Amino acid sequence: MSYEIKIQRTTTPKQKPEQNNLGFGNHFTDHMFIMDYTEGKGWHDPRIVPYAPLELDPSTMVLHYGQAIFEGLKAYKTQDGRILLFRPHKNMERVNISNDRMCIPQIDVDFAVEAIKSIVLVDKDWIPDAEGTSLYIRPFIIATDPFLGVRPSLTYKFMIILSPVGAYYPEGINPVKIYVESEYVRSVKGGVGFAKTIGNYAASLKAQMEAKKKGYTQVLWLDGVEKKYIEEVGTMNVFFKINGEVVTPSLEGSILPGITRQSTIELLTSWGIKVVERKISIEELYDVHAKGLLEEAFGTGTAAVISPIGEFNWNNNKILVNEGKTGELSAKIFDAITGIQSGKLEDKMKWTYEVK
Ligand SMILES: *Cc1c(COP(=O)(O)O)cnc(C)c1O
Repeated sequence: MSYEIKIQRTTTPKQKPEQNNLGFGNHFTDHMFIMDYTEGKGWHDPRIVPYAPLELDPSTMVLHYGQAIFEGLKAYKTQDGRILLFRPHKNMERVNISNDRMCIPQIDVDFAVEAIKSIVLVDKDWIPDAEGTSLYIRPFIIATDPFLGVRPSLTYKFMIILSPVGAYYPEGINPVKIYVESEYVRSVKGGVGFAKTIGNYAASLKAQMEAKKKGYTQVLWLDGVEKKYIEEVGTMNVFFKINGEVVTPSLEGSILPGITRQSTIELLTSWGIKVVERKISIEELYDVHAKGLLEEAFGTGTAAVISPIGEFNWNNNKILVNEGKTGELSAKIFDAITGIQSGKLEDKMKWTYEVK
């Protein structure tokens, strides 16, 4: 098994998109990383090749049974031209947690970070440098046996693609309106909610569409058994500032353990702010709001980093948080994390990883 990454460069580079209108996930770079897994042989043939469509047999297992996982992280170009990743080992460790749940073979975490480094370097001219922009990195693994029968595949592809993305808040950090979902559920303990596996997102679309129709950006999921306890928001974990203390739902197997979530907890703790991970019910949230103790609410995730929440709607009971405005602490965490990610602030937490 060779761990040397072979590089085949494109002879027909694409035109790069304008930096001011990138959006999210619209544009892809000139190259992609691929590595194969074969039962008995392990992971083999890591390579970087020109970005191109895949040819798959129509019976390819992932197309039928969804045995696949993915990740998302970003590379930033600093003002002095360095390239920084944010805690990439955490993402690759999470790949193995997701893999284990989906019966996909484990990957070598350090090698996977090397693979990210290599592909980012090959396409480094694609990293945008305008304020708030970055290069989104999408590693994923799919089951590739051409076989119609429900069992784990014996072959897989691990791939990494790259997409230059625009600023999430082109007009400054802005609160979102959230619909509390009390009909559909995202996951249950014992299920696959803690794994970043593709089917979780297909399962969430219906609730997402219905919330959009009602004028809400995302849904807040409640637990799948009692529809009582708060879980997470769309593709973000959720935090509340209640009477000076920060509360976030504890990870109990049905919530995706976000790296932005973990970083937010570590950052707040380093500032001397108490963070409690515990079960919190939607009733309690409305209760503390009625008492005037709900000071801030925000989501955390790689795409937005921090997304302040200005309104909740639970069974047509609407509450405004902080008069619908961005909270002071939410803004402070956003500035601190994005400052570290983009190299503008000193990285005391040792979270960034330079690509060179
Ligand atoms: C990816 C994801 C998150 C956020 O995780 P980060 O590591 O912070 O990006 C939260 N919830 C869900 C369901 C996710 O898929």
